[in-house]
Amino acid sequence: MRIAFLGLGIMGKPMAQNLVKAGHEVKVWNRSSGKSVDGAHSASSPKEAARDAEIVWLCVSDTKAVEEVLFGDDGVIGSLKAGAIVVDSSTILPDASLKFAERVRKNGADFVDAPVTGSKVGAESGQLIFIVGARAETFEKLQPLFSVMGKSAVRVGANGKGLAAKLSMNLMIALTYEGFAEALVLAKKQGVEVKPLMSLINQSMVRSGVVDYKAPFVMARDFSANFPMRLMHKDIRLMLEAARQNGVKLPGLETVDKVYESSAREGNANLDYAATLMTLEKAAGVS
Ligand code: NAP
Repeated sequence: MRIAFLGLGIMGKPMAQNLVKAGHEVKVWNRSSGKSVDGAHSASSPKEAARDAEIVWLCVSDTKAVEEVLFGDDGVIGSLKAGAIVVDSSTILPDASLKFAERVRKNGADFVDAPVTGSKVGAESGQLIFIVGARAETFEKLQPLFSVMGKSAVRVGANGKGLAAKLSMNLMIALTYEGFAEALVLAKKQGVEVKPLMSLINQSMVRSGVVDYKAPFVMARDFSANFPMRLMHKDIRLMLEAARQNGVKLPGLETVDKVYESSAREGNANLDYAATLMTLEKAAGVS
């Protein structure tokens, strides 16, 4: 298929690379220069990339970025073909995504929210999980592309529902990791060694995919970004906004939001969100 891929960050670049490897004709674009994908043509604007594309796939930071790429000067909308499908894998507010879908549909194209879970490792290995809000027939058309970049794609409902489900899942990730980090700090402060504690965690019901994924990085004190703290913090804000809009109270998440604020003030925003551990350690006076 002819695909435009817009946004070559931690996630977008390996996703686009996997599409090229599968034999698709891919045009890529990134806001700042110097990022490219082997075997893909680099376009000078979203508008140029989207010209003649059957599929336009986005993976950029936030709501503002999606709006600019789609509707800004030289945005996708200026060249989008009727019948094309725009797929957005950025994590943004469901409400905003619905408005973008409406504007794209007015141009005769379709729109899909397909945020992902699986992080950098999942993007690189083609093992992402796509959480999709789309028309059923459009979802079916995209299966060959989901299967190249991911291990599964789950359609949870119509437009916006993929993002609503994604935010709920990231809520669990944020709270689970903070639970792990707080447990480590409390145990260490009481003189418990980390190695036997990890053995206990791994054998008991508190074991989790989040801990499995993060523990090796934490033990190696490698806080380089797989999922940057600034982006998880952005997601926490989106969850709190979605909760406000829907009359839901999230006291655990409100507290975690404050931990992220402190950690960002300490200069950790561009590290992985696992670096919130360092903020807890600092407050407790342990490492
Ligand atoms: P990233 O490495 O920070 O990349 C962000 C991308 O967005 C870059 O290509 C950046 O361009 C582009 N961008 C930012 N602002 C823009 C703007 N105003 N206009 C156009 N492009 C803009 O982020 P990432 O980790 O790939 O994440 C991308 C999305 O996936 C986010 O919504 C994130 O929440 C979500 N996500 C990430 C992970 C993860 O583990 N990393 C997992 C699941 C979901 P420049 O290169 O010019 O800065």
